[in-house]
Amino acid sequence: MSFDLNKIVRPSIKCLQPYSSARDEFIGKANVYLDANENPFGNGLNRYPDPYQQVLKSKISKIKNIKKESIILGNGSDEVIDLLFRAFCEPNKDEVIILPPTYGMYQVCADINNVKTKKVSLTPDFEIDETSLLETINKNTKIIWFCSPNNPTGNTMDPVVIKNVLNSFKGIVVIDEAYIDFSDSQSWIDFIELHPNLFILQTLSKAWGLAGIRLGMGFASKEIISILNKIKPPYNVNSLTQEKAIEAIGYLDEKNDTIDAILAEKAKLSEKLNQIDEVQKIYQSDANFILVKINKAKDIYNKLVEHSIIVRNRSSVTLCEDCLRITVGNTAENEKLLNAIKKITA
Ligand SMILES: *Cc1c(COP(=O)(O)O)cnc(C)c1O
Repeated sequence: MSFDLNKIVRPSIKCLQPYSSARDEFIGKANVYLDANENPFGNGLNRYPDPYQQVLKSKISKIKNIKKESIILGNGSDEVIDLLFRAFCEPNKDEVIILPPTYGMYQVCADINNVKTKKVSLTPDFEIDETSLLETINKNTKIIWFCSPNNPTGNTMDPVVIKNVLNSFKGIVVIDEAYIDFSDSQSWIDFIELHPNLFILQTLSKAWGLAGIRLGMGFASKEIISILNKIKPPYNVNSLTQEKAIEAIGYLDEKNDTIDAILAEKAKLSEKLNQIDEVQKIYQSDANFILVKINKAKDIYNKLVEHSIIVRNRSSVTLCEDCLRITVGNTAENEKLLNAIKKITA
């Protein structure tokens, strides 16, 4: 394969002279900062944040065993998803491939950026249709979006198929690993050196329990990362988020304990849901949610709302007919859900 990054970056981005912030122009430590029009009266937050989040990236670099230069951080993964479209996809010309049913943001970001999506449906058992996917690639295809474990189906995509795509496709292959910490599978992070077209997304929103701070992580070759650094808003990750994330990464054991607790609750919840007559199928899940096929899913969804319990109604999504996506809650929440479903279906 000959992957040539220069050929797939949008011409306007290749030539872009990026905004140079005050913190870009003077790097180092000084006593007096009069370069950024900040307010000198300190309240802890009067200074702009580090535009490249160096301290936080050092911490992430250690726990992920990856070079700092291979990391980009964003205001949630959603910002990184958008940066990828803006770096590589020429509006009205380029295309991306998505594999529905999958995470909705790929389509929305494509639409916002006026980039066409080709859809290669997953098979009924939610696997990648490799033949159809490879046939769909054309000269304008810039990005293929994989999500593994996939939202809303919960399964991990076959690594053999992904590897074939990485080897044969000359554009960017994104693997969204938002749920990887709940899974036994190996992260694709370990293969960045091997595949110059690989881009991995992770987030602090799920296993780390920090959806509120909005911190998404992208991992790729330093060449790809430096293109995204050129186009990202200079101060895209605020100081409070950086501080909180640095602190959280020091509590790796606590994070792993919550993952264990969620997985134990998931097993219990699956087993009990399975005992309900109306439940047709519980799909195997490597994530912190369960996709459940259940008779009259939409009615059950509405009745759960009346019980003040909100799950995700996926019943109108192709291949997810009659399905609800249920996030694994804590013991009390899961019991409330089970009791309500039992009452509704009695
Ligand atoms: C929840 C989720 C994310 C997280 O997005 P953030 O913007 O980081 O909160 C990313 N991808 C998928 C597939 C998700 O389900």
